[in-house]
Amino acid sequence: MKKVWIFLFVLASIYANKQQMQPSYNPELPTVAIILTGGTILQKTDPKTGASVPAANPQDIIDAIPELKKIANLKVIGFSNLDSSQMTPRLWTKLSKVVDETLEDPEIIGAVVVHGTDTMADGAFFLDVTLKTEKNVVFTGAMANASSPFSDGPLNLVHSIIQVTSPNAKHWGVTVNMNHYIQAAYWVVKSQTTNPQAFQSGEKGYLGYVYENQVYRYNDSLYSIKLPKPTTFPYVEIIYDYPGSDGELLKKAVDLGAQAIAVEGMGAGNVNGKMFDAIKYAINKEVIVTISTNVANGCVFSAYGDKGGGASLVKEGVILGGNLEIDKVRLLLMLVMAEYGKDKEKIRHFLNYPFCRSYQKVGSCK
Ligand code: ASP
Repeated sequence: MKKVWIFLFVLASIYANKQQMQPSYNPELPTVAIILTGGTILQKTDPKTGASVPAANPQDIIDAIPELKKIANLKVIGFSNLDSSQMTPRLWTKLSKVVDETLEDPEIIGAVVVHGTDTMADGAFFLDVTLKTEKNVVFTGAMANASSPFSDGPLNLVHSIIQVTSPNAKHWGVTVNMNHYIQAAYWVVKSQTTNPQAFQSGEKGYLGYVYENQVYRYNDSLYSIKLPKPTTFPYVEIIYDYPGSDGELLKKAVDLGAQAIAVEGMGAGNVNGKMFDAIKYAINKEVIVTISTNVANGCVFSAYGDKGGGASLVKEGVILGGNLEIDKVRLLLMLVMAEYGKDKEKIRHFLNYPFCRSYQKVGSCK
């Protein structure tokens, strides 16, 4: 009997504690963490300059959306209030730790990460690879800031909380929820500078859609790569090939000490002759070189045998960059190399995992 009283007392004090932390705590609702990192959604227009700047108190912007508290109890955590052009792999590593630690609390069923849209696709990808939690983690933001009567922030936030709490939205890994659409961190890219429909996943399509208080599930997430949170940050550079490029910047990156260079080539993964010579210079100095493409969809292949063609690059030891967009190739290279150094087999495995290997073997995208 005594034990029962102690148990009831502990329950009552947990409840009272929650009431203190969240005056509007509703025991009928799940609890969701909202982790604020910044972006337009947490910005206001400076009346003097007319420019969008971080709000002095970003929590006020969340508090001004009463609909959120009707869906879940909120635990709002301030991480930063940065324009996402200032985000770095180091900051995303810290963010990944904060999200994992926050979601260790059994009361919290998932998290919404509020992030600027410029690098949202990269941040979501970084967390998708490095998070340990299996709970729902959704990235969202806005294209119009909180001063605008037409800001898309409130609706995006409401939809993201609905997604986190929905039984229809499980096992997608980290996703981006913007303008009703749910997209996989692996594929999503920012594709419009100012429109609320700012993200696309190309030929891979959307995972789902939120309307009113429902999540409509279109697709399952195809893949998930997991790597530890890095403790070192290898120097990995991106070099773009273009008609008439001379490869000098690639050689400069080698001379500056780059451990790997992610090259964005053309078509199915080809570069011009001068870039090919520069790549050979890098490989001779034991720098890892990968090849990707400036084409929005499709894998790269060792298809063409002329100087700079994919087949000649692979023959020299260049690693195919799979189907990932170049910024994500760089992030993945950093994460793999932080764990496995210059182990080419591992790099090949993770970069071509999982899409392009099967594509190359069976000859069809599925
Ligand atoms: N420049 C902003 C950012 O990425 C854009 C946005 O959030 O929509 O932080």
